[in-house]
Amino acid sequence: MHFDPELILLALAPVFLLCIGWEAWYWRRRQQPIYSLTDTVSNAALALMHQGADKLAWLFVIPVYAWIYTHYRIFTMRPGWVEFLLLFLVQDLLYYVFHRASHRVRWLWAAHVVHHSSTRLNLSTAFRQSLMYPVAGMWLFWAPMALLGFPPRQIVAIVLLNLAFQFFVHTQAIPRLGWLEYVFNTPSIHRVHHARNPRYIDRNYAGVLVIWDRLFGSFVPENEADPCEYGIVEQIHSHNPVTLTFHEWRAMLRDFLLLPGWKNKWMAVFGPPEWRRRRTDLPS
Ligand SMILES: [Zn+2]
Ligand SMILES: [Zn+2]
Repeated sequence: MHFDPELILLALAPVFLLCIGWEAWYWRRRQQPIYSLTDTVSNAALALMHQGADKLAWLFVIPVYAWIYTHYRIFTMRPGWVEFLLLFLVQDLLYYVFHRASHRVRWLWAAHVVHHSSTRLNLSTAFRQSLMYPVAGMWLFWAPMALLGFPPRQIVAIVLLNLAFQFFVHTQAIPRLGWLEYVFNTPSIHRVHHARNPRYIDRNYAGVLVIWDRLFGSFVPENEADPCEYGIVEQIHSHNPVTLTFHEWRAMLRDFLLLPGWKNKWMAVFGPPEWRRRRTDLPS
């Protein structure tokens, strides 16, 4: 049977939509303003734009993985359970690295900020993605898997399965989940990741497993005394998907062109996102 891994998200779309419908109903019954139509429509538009860009990007990226796999692979992974477990673990760790870098390097943040730019958090927020990920170079982070000897189709499949899992952690309707909090990324853990409270910023980068955050010191639990406030430090007041997609790229380009000296130019692109905010000595 031939199965195209690129269709994983499309195949799951009905499940995602049903869950969003349930959650919207759940909050409506409780009269909580967790959903807004403009926000959700904007998330849906961003999802379609991201899907289109991704589809196009795989056309270029899969041959690159295939080239690395054919010429430079260190091992040859055979189909099997141990190999699948390895594929999953390696990709989830690489996702952690990618996600952490996306919050600490402005070039990557320019794409990732889209996912964080809503002041709401619900299942539809999972759809809020950037079409600029392929330009930012997200695919480079998965290249080591080809080097390890995983075939390109398996790489695409595991990347998309990881993303599909993450849909379910974007909700305020599920409380903490006991022992699962020690192993998996959960709604509570990911709520913290989307919060802008000082104690929560740049924490909980997990994709599927939270063990990486616990191992590398980036874990912080949700604290009921400090309820999550969602969004980013400098909030963008727009629902326009084009504005949302490009605003940070524009700001970065402007800084790169206008700031004096190569050190400033380098930091404007590869420094942490808050570098610009802290530099009160530079022209605003
Ligand atoms: Zn993030
Ligand atoms: Zn998220």
